[in-house]
Amino acid sequence: MSNINFIQKSDLFSYTATRCLRNEYFHNDCHICIDLCPKGAFHIVRNKLTLFENECVGCAGCIGSCPTEAFEIESFDPNGFAASYQHQNESTISCKTSTPCLGIFDVEHYTVMALRGEKSVVCDLSHCEGCVLNENGKLGESIREKIDATNRFLEMIQTPQRIETIDVKVEENDRRALFRKGFEKVKESITEESVAHISMTAAHHKRPDVKMPLKRILLKNSLKEIIPGLETTEFTQSSPLFFNKQIDFQSCTNCGDCTQFCPTDALFTTSDKQGIVFAQGKCIGCGICEDICKPNAISKKEGFSLVSVAFERAEQLVHYEMVTCHECRCPFPYKGGDPICDRCSSYIKEFSNMFTLAKDM
Ligand code: SF4
Ligand code: SF4
Ligand code: SF4
Repeated sequence: MSNINFIQKSDLFSYTATRCLRNEYFHNDCHICIDLCPKGAFHIVRNKLTLFENECVGCAGCIGSCPTEAFEIESFDPNGFAASYQHQNESTISCKTSTPCLGIFDVEHYTVMALRGEKSVVCDLSHCEGCVLNENGKLGESIREKIDATNRFLEMIQTPQRIETIDVKVEENDRRALFRKGFEKVKESITEESVAHISMTAAHHKRPDVKMPLKRILLKNSLKEIIPGLETTEFTQSSPLFFNKQIDFQSCTNCGDCTQFCPTDALFTTSDKQGIVFAQGKCIGCGICEDICKPNAISKKEGFSLVSVAFERAEQLVHYEMVTCHECRCPFPYKGGDPICDRCSSYIKEFSNMFTLAKDM
C-alpha cells in the first residue's frame, strides 16, 4: 500500500494528493507545478507527486496552474476572487495590493474576470522582473502565457473584453529591495480582504459528486451570460480552453477504460453500457483517455461549441450493438461480419494450424 499523505500542508498551503492527475493514473506525467515551484518543493516519490513541506514557502505561485485544483492556500481563493471581481472597486490586479503572486490565477480565472467585469481587467506585471519567486523566469513567463491565452480566446469568440497589462520598469534599487524581501515578506502581501474569498473552493471540494474543477464551473456560468450576444458559438479551430474528442468505431473495443479513468467524468457510458458519451465542457485536456486506450481509438478533434460547453451538452461518440459470440457465448460489441468476438477471432487465427493438424492425425 502506498505511503502518500492524502493532504499535505505547509503553513497556509495545502496539497490534496488524491486530486493530482499523477495519482489518478499511474502513467500520467503532469509536471506543471514541479516546473513552476521556485523552491523545488515538489518531488516525485515512487511515481507520486509529493510536497516536501519544509521546502514550500506558501508563495501560491503554483495554485492557479493545477488543472484539477489540487492546491489551496488558506488566506486566498482564486475562484472566490474571480467570482466577486465584478463587485470590486479596484480593477488592477497586483501582487502589491490585491493578491499574492498573479500565478495564483489560471486562464479560466482571467476569462471569468474579463467576461464579468464592467471595466477592463488590468494586471500589474511590473514586479515580476526581480521578484524573488521569479528568479528563473518561469513563473513570470507562465503568467504572461496565461494572459495571452485568455486574450486569444476572447478574440476568437469575438468579445470586446481583453486583459490589459502594466509593465513599468522597476528602478534598480527597488529591484534589489524586492530580492531582499524574501519569501516570508511575499506571504505578507496577501491582504486581509482576501480572507473573505476563502471558503468557495473549499466548499466545492466537499462535494465528491462534482468532479469538475470550480474554475471551469465559473467559466461555464460566465459563458452562459454572454452567449446570447455572440455572433457565433460554433468554432472549427482549437482553443486554449476547450477540448474535443472523437472515437474510431472500428478500433474501439468498448473496454470502458477511458470512462473509468477520466478524472472529471467528461467521458461516461450510456445507461445501457453500450456507448460512450463526451461532455466538452468537463474536459480539462489531461490526455489520460488517449494514453490509456490500448487500440488508440480515442483522439483529439478540432473545434468546440460554446453552447455545449456552457450548457453541459454531451455528445455520443460511439454506440454498439452487443451480441453473443457464437464461440464463447459472451456478449461483445458487434461491428459487422461473423458474430465472433475479438478474443475468439484471434484465438482461431493463431491456433487454426494446430486444429488442422489435430484433425488430420
Ligand atoms: S499541477 Fe496538479 S495535476 Fe499536475 S502534477 Fe501538480 S498537483 Fe498534479
Ligand atoms: S476508446 Fe479506447 S479506452 Fe475507450 S472504450 Fe474504446 S477502446 Fe476502451
Ligand atoms: S476526456 Fe480525456 S482529456 Fe478530457 S478530462 Fe477526460 S481523460 Fe482528460
